[in-house]
Amino acid sequence: MTPQSEDFSAWYNELVIKAELVDRGPVRGTMVIRPYGYRIWELIQAELDRLIKQTGHQNAYFPLLIPQSYLQREAEHVEGFAPELAVVTHAGGKQLEEPLVVRPTSETVIGEYMAKWISSYRDLPLLLNQWANVVRWELRPRMFLRTTEFLWQEGHTAYADEVGAMAETMLALDEIYARTARELAAMPVIEGEKTAAERFAGAVRTFSIEAMMRDGRALQAGTSHYLGTNFARAFNIQYTAEDSQLRYAHTTSFGMTTRMIGGVIMTHGDDKGLVLPPRLAPYQVVIVPIGRGDQAAEVSAAAAVLAARLAAAGIRAHVDDRPQLSPGFKFNDWELRGVPIRLELGPRDLAAGSALMALRLGGAKEPISLAGAPARLADELAAFQDLLLERATAFRDAHTVSTDEWDDFTKAVATGWALALHCGTRECEEEIKAQTGATARCIPLDGEPASGRCIRCDLPSAYGKRVIFGRAY
Ligand SMILES: [Zn+2]
Repeated sequence: MTPQSEDFSAWYNELVIKAELVDRGPVRGTMVIRPYGYRIWELIQAELDRLIKQTGHQNAYFPLLIPQSYLQREAEHVEGFAPELAVVTHAGGKQLEEPLVVRPTSETVIGEYMAKWISSYRDLPLLLNQWANVVRWELRPRMFLRTTEFLWQEGHTAYADEVGAMAETMLALDEIYARTARELAAMPVIEGEKTAAERFAGAVRTFSIEAMMRDGRALQAGTSHYLGTNFARAFNIQYTAEDSQLRYAHTTSFGMTTRMIGGVIMTHGDDKGLVLPPRLAPYQVVIVPIGRGDQAAEVSAAAAVLAARLAAAGIRAHVDDRPQLSPGFKFNDWELRGVPIRLELGPRDLAAGSALMALRLGGAKEPISLAGAPARLADELAAFQDLLLERATAFRDAHTVSTDEWDDFTKAVATGWALALHCGTRECEEEIKAQTGATARCIPLDGEPASGRCIRCDLPSAYGKRVIFGRAY
């Protein structure tokens, strides 16, 4: 495999295939998610779904096909999505009277039904979430990061006023997304607001969590939008308020996708392959039995017993008893596939009541007692999870530069992020992108107050704080 340090992009493209996460789909830009990759998605999905429900949302499902006229009702929305749409013009053997769009996102169809279901302030807030696939035609596809079809959840809510809807927008960002990224994926994300140029098509305000990959590029890992009354006006989502006046609802939407898997790979992976955070690892511990002849059966049986004890303790354990492969091959294979802990179990270990533990991030192998293995491994997994978050945080901080000098800015965004003052104009953002490849990733919520001159054009700075710039996926 191409080393990460040599060619990050080639490393990534080879790794996703070799680790059996995905295969290329038959249509350009599509992906087949293989069981090992899908299990990672299920683990993300389970935690996200728990948090989504815990914060009061309910799951529902809306149709894949949306009448084209729905998208045309919100001018900015249709303009933003038009280049990415897949449109069905023929079905049932004839041309359709109205073309149907394969959903790129579901604000429009859900807006139509919100209008139907909401009539009084008593119907608010309405808190929906949908697990679905969406299609956005992709000209420069990359597995997990940009695929023509991807899986996600999309939350859609309606509130009586801006205060409620903005609180919801921030709740999704902080309590659902940032938490999932930090606690589950060990990704130290920055929460912030998008500049006008980077806003979702049709939104009043867009917020995102931004993560730094090991090549210094930024990955937008989740977005939360305050849509104001834009979609309520387009779809006539109105309610009778307590004072009997008819008012427009304020709506929001938020989404996190299978792109998160790409984020995990690029946040933690190394030259040997994947490094999976234990909470997202399909197998947290892999046991490799080592024994020949008569001893093989005995060692395999002991490995199975150990795996069952680990499973009973809530650890996802797997015994690699593929007979035709050498232990050395298996060690490399599970390293490539990012398993946090490997246990080697041979006849001598068994006789001594121990197994040899190897952590994915190196260090000497260490014998651990079989009797105490479940408790010891649970501790090791928790420590490994913490280590990954610390390591990624240190990497991000070491590759982030706060600067007021253009030369330093261009150097910083070549290898990581720059924190810089900006005038807030779209033209200036475009000029920065043209010169350096970097875009405004977000205006961090917890940024220190700062003001002065724009990093590029000398106009007075906007936002009252520094903006994160970086090259992005
Ligand atoms: Zn400027």
